[in-house]
This record gives sequence, structure tokens and C-alpha cells, in this order.
Amino acid sequence: KDEVNIISGALELRKKTVSDVMTKLEDVFMLPISSVLDFETMSEIVKSGYSRIPVYEGSRGNIITVLFIKDLAFVDPDDNTPLRTLCQYYQNPCNFVFEDVTLDVMFKQFKEGHKGHMAFVHRINNEGEGDPFYETIGLVTLEDVIEEMIQAEIVDE
Ligand code: ADP
Repeated sequence: KDEVNIISGALELRKKTVSDVMTKLEDVFMLPISSVLDFETMSEIVKSGYSRIPVYEGSRGNIITVLFIKDLAFVDPDDNTPLRTLCQYYQNPCNFVFEDVTLDVMFKQFKEGHKGHMAFVHRINNEGEGDPFYETIGLVTLEDVIEEMIQAEIVDE
């Protein structure tokens, strides 16, 4: 029964896209680059429970880097380190995928390590008068793809 589920889930990967399984931008826990890593901010980060936090400049759609929780290991909250300082030190890259990429392709990219295990989902917005621009609409991780494959929720500890 489990095997049948996994096999049919794996076959379904070709029919679904990253935008079907992503976490929407409005639901993403992220930080502005102007944040200060004081006790309050660091507690919020830990409380969020996420291991990767997108960092944006200006508006939430403008993600410029990612903070890994492990990057905080040597940060003392009493130092009030600017997040910008830490981000400039680590310079973790962000990976982007188009919203219509199918999950079998996404899985292969994650597996081969091309996109880390997290990617931001974007589209080209050419509505309106101005020039077309990239619009970020969410994020997808390896876990989102695997859940689709095994057709079950993974309960995080
Ligand atoms: P983590 O290692 O942080 O637990 P996972 O890769 O296991 O992240 O993903 C678990 C779920 O959380 C996925 O649905 C993913 O889209 C979502 N997710 C990951 N990071 C964030 C974040 N910073 N804000 C909101 N949701 C996130």
C-alpha cells in the first residue's frame, strides 16, 4: 500500500509545479537586512523554528540573501550585531526557480545540489504599463517536494 502510494506520487510529480506546493511569500518568515541581532530578534528567529531565513531589502519581494540558523552560532545578542554585517560575511546565495517548473525537475535539481535545498519561486510580471519585472511569489524546499512524492505530511520536530 505504501509502495503504491509512493510510486503514484512519484509519477504525479510531473503534473505538479513548484507553485502548487510552495510556501507563499506572505507566509514566509523573513527579516529585513536592517535588523539588529539583539536578544529580541534572535529569540524570534529561534521561535520561528526555521533553519533558513530569507533576508530582504526594502520590500518583502526583494530577497537578497539567506540567513542560516547555524550562522548565528558565534553571535552574542549583547553585541547588537547588525544583520547586514553577518550577511556580508557569509554571503549565502539565493536560488530562484520559475513558478511553472515541474516537481520532477525541481527534485532533480535539489538532488544534484544545484539549488541548495531551498529555492525562491518567481515569475515574470508583464502586466501593467512598465517594463516586465521578476516577481517573487514564494519559496519551495526539498521537504515540500518529498511530501508530494510520499503523499503525506512530514511532521517537523
Ligand atoms: P526547516 O529546515 O526550516 O524546517 P524545511 O525545508 O524542512 O525547513 O521545510 C519545512 C516547511 O517549511 C516547508 O513547507 C517549507 O516551504 C517551509 N519553510 C521553510 N523555511 C521557511 C521560512 N523561513 N518561512 C516560512 N516557511 C518556511
